[in-house]
Amino acid sequence: MTCQDLADFLMDYIEGALPQTQRDEFDSHLGACPPCIEYMKSYEETIRMGKTLCDQPDAPIPDDVPEKLIRAILSARAKSAS
Ligand SMILES: [Zn+2]
Repeated sequence: MTCQDLADFLMDYIEGALPQTQRDEFDSHLGACPPCIEYMKSYEETIRMGKTLCDQPDAPIPDDVPEKLIRAILSARAKSAS
């Protein structure tokens, strides 16, 4: 697994959506690649921020939230509204 693969699947990993074999590859990559650990930490931080935003539907979304996360937040809001 490369750093790019890790970045691509990070959201699935955090959500627990990855199959066990891929989780194992993830874990072994993380164990050997400090930059990816840092990346994952900042990603988790962004997700926490996103969850806060989901809990406050009227709160404005900060400009520095990644586009992908904004879409995830908006779809989560749409789901909880229905
Ligand atoms: Zn890496």
